[in-house]
Amino acid sequence: MKTIGLLSVCVLLVAIRQTSSLPAPSALPQPPVPPRSSLSNQMLESIINPNGTQLECNAIEEDIPNIRSGLIPIRYRWQNLNAFIDPAYSINERTLINNAMYRLAQVLPCVRFGIWPIGSTPTGDYVHIRKLSGCSAVVGKQGGSQHMSLQSPGCMSMGTIMHEMIHALGFFHEQSRPDRDDFVTIRLQNVQPGTEHNFNKYSSSQVSTFNVGYDQQSIMHYGSTAFSSNGQPTIVARNGGPIGSTGDLRQSDILKLKRMYNC
Ligand SMILES: [Zn+2]
Repeated sequence: MKTIGLLSVCVLLVAIRQTSSLPAPSALPQPPVPPRSSLSNQMLESIINPNGTQLECNAIEEDIPNIRSGLIPIRYRWQNLNAFIDPAYSINERTLINNAMYRLAQVLPCVRFGIWPIGSTPTGDYVHIRKLSGCSAVVGKQGGSQHMSLQSPGCMSMGTIMHEMIHALGFFHEQSRPDRDDFVTIRLQNVQPGTEHNFNKYSSSQVSTFNVGYDQQSIMHYGSTAFSSNGQPTIVARNGGPIGSTGDLRQSDILKLKRMYNC
């Protein structure tokens, strides 16, 4: 039900796409225009160390897969990934979102990341980040305004924000890969009824692994008890190793991003 609601929101946002020509979003890491406020200056200059951050919202995450779109077509990729951050976020929260985007901008120098200044009216293709319920994002560039929810404080960590941004960049979850059954076992008997779709697997015609090996600690991998109804594991590694993101990008994540975007 929630997925349908969020999809409706996304469609509505696309429908009311703005057409005014107010200031362009400031780019990361080099802003093309002087920011209109000191906040933007501060955001563009501050970088935090993401070490030690944790994914906090695996259990409430509800992404919106657009299965028909898949990830392989070039049209779902960004040249300029601009974000419009809802004014409801505090300065510290905006800074954290900025820092997560900055980290990804360093990984993907061929993608121009930007944040629309406070008070501006976003235009073109952009990610509209709002404090809705849970952490979720539409996968790949859809055109116009597209949905991302970063609930506060639950989704306010570097790892979670990068996770959602990587959805926007075009990746589904690691455990959705076509080859996931070779590496993990999904225990549907422990999954909350009605949330089984979060463990869908996509075919190799829908998604590409970009010839990067399965990483059960990818920033895009669910934790072992995600969507558990009883506290028991919903995902178990066949090799017995740890499952779930460490809260930071892994080398596998970086490699997949670079290959998708030819950076
Ligand atoms: Zn996700």
